[in-house]
Amino acid sequence: MGAHDDAPASNPTTTTTTTTTTIDELIDVCTRAERAPESEPQRALDALRLIESFTAFDDAMFTDARFAQCGKIINTLRKKHGDDEVKAAASRVKAAWTKMILARAEPDAKKQSAKEEKPGKIAAAAAAPVVEKKDGNDPLHEAKVAIKNKLELVDDPARDRTREIFAEALAPCMMDGKVKGVTIEKLASIAAKIENAMTAKWPDGGKDYKTKVRQLAFNLKDAKNPDLRTSMANGDITSDVLIELSPEELGSNERRLANERIRELAEWEAVRGQQQEASTDAFKCGKCKQRACTYYQLQTRSADEPMTTFITCVNCGNRWKIC
Ligand SMILES: [Zn+2]
Repeated sequence: MGAHDDAPASNPTTTTTTTTTTIDELIDVCTRAERAPESEPQRALDALRLIESFTAFDDAMFTDARFAQCGKIINTLRKKHGDDEVKAAASRVKAAWTKMILARAEPDAKKQSAKEEKPGKIAAAAAAPVVEKKDGNDPLHEAKVAIKNKLELVDDPARDRTREIFAEALAPCMMDGKVKGVTIEKLASIAAKIENAMTAKWPDGGKDYKTKVRQLAFNLKDAKNPDLRTSMANGDITSDVLIELSPEELGSNERRLANERIRELAEWEAVRGQQQEASTDAFKCGKCKQRACTYYQLQTRSADEPMTTFITCVNCGNRWKIC
C-alpha cells in the first residue's frame, strides 16, 4: 500500500486474511489521521477506521521507535481531538494495541494454554474460519440459524427482530473456541435476556433502544473483539451491565484486562514512553542457546519498582521476560 495522502480509506476489509501491516504503512495512516484538519473529522475517522482494520502486524513493528510515535499520535487524538467519534475510534485503537502488546509480553503463557487446548473439540472449532462464506456449508451461518431457531420470541416484531440480531451477533461464540460448554440454547437465552434488559430500560423501543441495538450488535459480533461476547457467554457480564456500557467500553478489552497486574502493564504511557529496543549479547536464549537478542524495558508497576525486561531472540524468535 502506497503513501497517497488523499487516498480514501477504501480497503478496511473485515475478513481475516492475514495481510501483514508494516510500520511504514502504519505510520503513514497515523500521520494522515494526525494531519487531518479538525474541521474535517471524517478524514481522521477514515484513517482511524483503516487502522482498526489492521489486525496482523509485522513483528518488527513493536520494537520500532516509530511504533511509539504512532502510539503518541493515537493518544493525542484520543485525548485532545474536538470530535467525540474521533476520540472514541482512537480509544479503540489504543485498546487493541494495548491488547496486542500484552499478548506479546506474555507469549509463553499464551502458547502454553493454546497447546493444552489443541487436542480438544474447542481447538477444532477455533480453527474453523471466522469469516462468513457464501457457500452452503458455512458453520457461522448455521450457528446463526440454529440460535435463532431456539429463540424465545415475544410476539412483538421489533423486539423479536432485536433478539434475532443479538442471536446472530453472539453466534461467533460457537467458533471462537473461547467458551467452554457453550451451546446454541445458551446463546439464544442470552440474546433474549439482553433484549429483555433493553426493553426494561427503554420500554418505548425508541431512538435510544435502536441506537443501543446497533452498538451492541456491532461490538458483540466484532471479529477483533471476541472478549465482549465471550464475557457474555461466560456470564461474566450480565445483560443489565452490558446495556450500561459506553461505546468505548464495549469496544475495548477493559474487562479482559481486569486483572490488576495486567491493568498496570497496560498503561499506554508506560509502554510508549519506555519501549526502547536495543540489541545485546547479554542474554542467552533458552531454546536455541544463541546470544543474539533484542530487548526493551517497561515500567510495569509503579515508578519506584524495577523495570521488566522483555527479551526477544533474533535467531529463533523465542521471547521471555525478566522482572
Ligand atoms: Zn533462540
